[in-house]
Amino acid sequence: MAGAQEARDGNGSRGGGPGPQPRARRVLVFPLPFQGHIDPMLHLAGVLHGRGLAVTVLHTRFNALDPARHPEFRFVAVPDGTPADVAATGRIIDIILAMNSAMESSSSAAVTEALASAALADPRAACLFIDANLLAVHRAARKIGLPTLVLRTGSAACLGCFLSYPMLHEKGYLPPRESQLCTPVPELPPLRVKDLVYSKHSDHELVRRVLARASETVRGCSGLVINTFEALEAAEIGRLRDELADLPVILAAGPLHKLSSNSSRGAGSSLLAQDRSCIEWLDAQRSGSVLYVSFGSLAAMDSSEFLEVAWGLAESGHPFLWVVRPNLVRGCCDDDSVRRRRLPDGVEDAVRAGRGVVVRWAPQQEVLAHRAVGGFWSHCGWNSTLEAISEGVPMICRPDAVDQMMNTRYVQDVWGVGFELEGELERGKIKDAIRKLMSEREGDEMRERAQELRGKVEGCLESSGPSQIAIDKLVNYIQSL
Ligand code: UDP
Repeated sequence: MAGAQEARDGNGSRGGGPGPQPRARRVLVFPLPFQGHIDPMLHLAGVLHGRGLAVTVLHTRFNALDPARHPEFRFVAVPDGTPADVAATGRIIDIILAMNSAMESSSSAAVTEALASAALADPRAACLFIDANLLAVHRAARKIGLPTLVLRTGSAACLGCFLSYPMLHEKGYLPPRESQLCTPVPELPPLRVKDLVYSKHSDHELVRRVLARASETVRGCSGLVINTFEALEAAEIGRLRDELADLPVILAAGPLHKLSSNSSRGAGSSLLAQDRSCIEWLDAQRSGSVLYVSFGSLAAMDSSEFLEVAWGLAESGHPFLWVVRPNLVRGCCDDDSVRRRRLPDGVEDAVRAGRGVVVRWAPQQEVLAHRAVGGFWSHCGWNSTLEAISEGVPMICRPDAVDQMMNTRYVQDVWGVGFELEGELERGKIKDAIRKLMSEREGDEMRERAQELRGKVEGCLESSGPSQIAIDKLVNYIQSL
């Protein structure tokens, strides 16, 4: 266990007005150890710490966090027992199942002990926030009587879909059949069968098991926080409130990255080091001229697709900033093989001419907020989607797996702030898509709608806005536990 001092413990109120202050409490947070799950959990931790709560971050040894980057939190490493060969596959579904099963068997006593000792630290813990995928931790917390709240790092629509999985099987939508992939699912508009957490790369039965466990965690918890906001998903949040009417609190408290304090934003929780040189390059670009291209931390492509993306960017004529992380190309894990040997001449020429920049990992939130960025080609992970919406940046969507197809459906068909690049990746199609987003009327209209959504984000973040009120309610609820 790595200890770190608490920077400050204070009162649980916003604004610091006169009157009696509630006594300080601690919250424990335990993220699923993947980038897209770690970030929002640490943002939530930052928000709660900013409201005067002490925070202990429990983390697995797999993708372990660095306590030195968050001196304001206490850190506890928990033995997760994930077998090294499973961890090495990088397959999130396999890792979730293996990690839970290890924590539920041999290391279960260790998990319970770690929770119990973290909960007793001064000030004592009021509750534990976990990722819904950590049912094993929920069960351990229950043994010691510690209330568990779930942070959902995906959209409200996504959680609604997870909870509907039994119904979707009963009605025959799932498991997905090739001939029905485009069939609409009227129970979950605007989704089609292929948007229902479908991936040609994962075993449907394993997906079903993971989602059944996540649903059990959510249905049995003492409160639910969703990283979304009322103005974005009012109907979906409403449906969850009906479906989960027994839960004491269901709060839409996002976008958390916009609410958290600086120390818990961006670089603090990055598993890969951010290359900030791209900001200087962006500073020298025309406003709205740059296409930012990133497929998140897990989505991968074949080497032939990678080459088509590269040529599409090279031939588009638009300035681009492209994140090429080590495992972006299937079967190719080191930086040199991905970035140098495989980048075609067209991209090298663009980079040499100063029209393009390729980085291993970008400070994404800062990039999307930069005035030079006019579009985002994304895999539509939920964090990336929320980050783009928060800055009013329209998107080309290329979903790969998990919830990315349904996020894409909402981006295109509900919010109108982007469009899907479907079918085989081919340089001519890519060039056309980039032109549409960056320089055609349709792209401009998406940009206008994205700016309107950005305005709604700002409304949520105001001191009397729904997300701030949700955090107020959450802090009061924690104090009451
Ligand atoms: N990200 C980043 N730098 C990059 C690429 C991604 O900081 O070069 C961050 C991004 O801001 C987001 C997270 O990584 O917060 C990815 O989460 P998301 O849900 O979009 O996708 P996932 O990686 O879970 O598929």
